[in-house]
Amino acid sequence: MTLGLDADDLNSCVQCGLCLPHCPTFRVTGDESMSPRGRIKLMREVQDEGAPLTAEVLRSFESCVQCRGCEPACPSGVPYGHLMEQTRETLADQKKMAPGWQRLALKPLKHPAALQAGTKALSIIQKTGLVPKRLGLPDDLPFRQEPLVASGDDVYLFTGCVMDAFQRDVHQAGQRVIEAAGFGVTPTGDLAPCCGALQAHAGLAGETRSLAEHMMRSLAPDTPILVDSAGCGAAMKDYGHLLGTDEARAFSARVFDIQEWLADNMADLPTVEPLDLRVAVQDPCHLRHVQRVHLATRVVLAPYVRELVELDDEGLCCGAGGAYSVLEPELAGQIRDRKVASIDRATPDLVASANPGCSMHLAGAGVPTIHPMELIDWALTGTR
Ligand code: SF4
Ligand code: SF4
Repeated sequence: MTLGLDADDLNSCVQCGLCLPHCPTFRVTGDESMSPRGRIKLMREVQDEGAPLTAEVLRSFESCVQCRGCEPACPSGVPYGHLMEQTRETLADQKKMAPGWQRLALKPLKHPAALQAGTKALSIIQKTGLVPKRLGLPDDLPFRQEPLVASGDDVYLFTGCVMDAFQRDVHQAGQRVIEAAGFGVTPTGDLAPCCGALQAHAGLAGETRSLAEHMMRSLAPDTPILVDSAGCGAAMKDYGHLLGTDEARAFSARVFDIQEWLADNMADLPTVEPLDLRVAVQDPCHLRHVQRVHLATRVVLAPYVRELVELDDEGLCCGAGGAYSVLEPELAGQIRDRKVASIDRATPDLVASANPGCSMHLAGAGVPTIHPMELIDWALTGTR
């Protein structure tokens, strides 16, 4: 069967194996079929040689975190992320991936009011202890959140779906920081309810395309769009590839991770006493391996904390991976154990993470996480 993969992309892998040490699923299993090289070999066998799509092949594809840690390690420039996304889209179209319950669970993401109402209800149920731990939800879901209010039109702040429902305080901190740097901010709110990242991960790229088109129609042209979730930013920077139009490429070109943008626009931020904290930086995969702008996090944090420390695991994934920690709890837990060990060796007071999925997944193991924007806001306002 064809997986719809571009032959040149598929054949660009020379099976050298240099990516293997950078793959979290290979690191925890030692199994070749759980490595990028193994998965690409299986894609070739299915598409080019007519090999059957066995349960083992599906397992190999499903177990990929889609962290894309293999991409920067690859000397041949294999576009692994696009190969895996296309594979999943083909298999989801044929109902071999993304079961009905998963499609149903993703539906509310494009309806902010439903998501907010659901979060309120969950925050009440949470107090009874009836919300299963394996869902990986934060312990303190908000019941009520202050609305975000526009302060100008220099930049958009993309607020998205789950993050706005669970962690609006991060958006509020980010907005205050951007305003302190001298810029007016318009939160996107209902204009752009969801970026489609989780849908693309699940193989439902058709839904991502329609969300992308909606967002491109809704936001005024030319205004920079700042994103404080690494996964959302990576998805929005990929709209050019996903839709293949000049308009989408132009849209993606004005999407910035909030740290990336601030690093170039922080000259007017006030000078304040740094927080007396030793902070470890956890690089979300979609910031480090996909957007490749993770160094900006250090630039913006350096003036505001006493000490920044690096983890010693070369940016290996934490196992969050969109909904991966819910869908693959065992593998996600083993991958997280490696990350937590690396964090423990760094002995930080706090861990700065620029992705809500990573921060919730790590917090589930007792790691004290905070968004970089919250740290800067804390230093500037004196209030956490
Ligand atoms: S994906 Fe790249 S690094 Fe990995 S085996 Fe193929 S060519 Fe080598
Ligand atoms: S995306 Fe991540 S989990 Fe998947 S093959 Fe690449 S390194 Fe491994």
